[in-house]
Amino acid sequence: MENKLIKLALSVGFNRAEMIDASQIVCDRKFREQCEANACGVFGKCWMCPPDVGQIDALIAEVKSYSKGLLYQSVFELEDSFDFEGMQEGGRTQNQRSRALQEELNKLGYTDFLHLSKGGCGVCSPCAKVHGEPCRFPEKALSSLEAYGINVSATVKNTSMKYINGANTVTYFGIVLFKE
Ligand code: SF4
Repeated sequence: MENKLIKLALSVGFNRAEMIDASQIVCDRKFREQCEANACGVFGKCWMCPPDVGQIDALIAEVKSYSKGLLYQSVFELEDSFDFEGMQEGGRTQNQRSRALQEELNKLGYTDFLHLSKGGCGVCSPCAKVHGEPCRFPEKALSSLEAYGINVSATVKNTSMKYINGANTVTYFGIVLFKE
């Protein structure tokens, strides 16, 4: 099963993927404070982001209820370290790949998993939350590693992946958690 999941992640475009044990995942409730600082401007404007996604302690407990994770990453080249358009474009591509992986998992019949991607949901613009409406595509909606309190840089230290992959690059991560 593990090799099949890794191949699936690579087939939708991620550069690297590996299975990790849940004990390798580092969580820290301070990530909620970073969301509350609202540097991204989406706090309170998306069902998949804080505070609507849930209380941080409950979400960390949910992460810890799983036993294995398919961790994946994409590395994107930038023109320079100020290439914010390149970072945003990479972020959109990362979310497209995550949604493609989600569709493949659904097609293969996986149901009992938690999929967390890169910040925000991004399926609708704006999110239905802005108009006080229910989520339009709950089967596609994805929350983020950080919203669930996962410290990605500390977690990656326990794997074969690198958090930073050279000058003028940006790296994005995601994880699919499974019960067994
Ligand atoms: S799928 Fe659309 S409505 Fe649902 S959380 Fe994502 S952006 Fe919001």
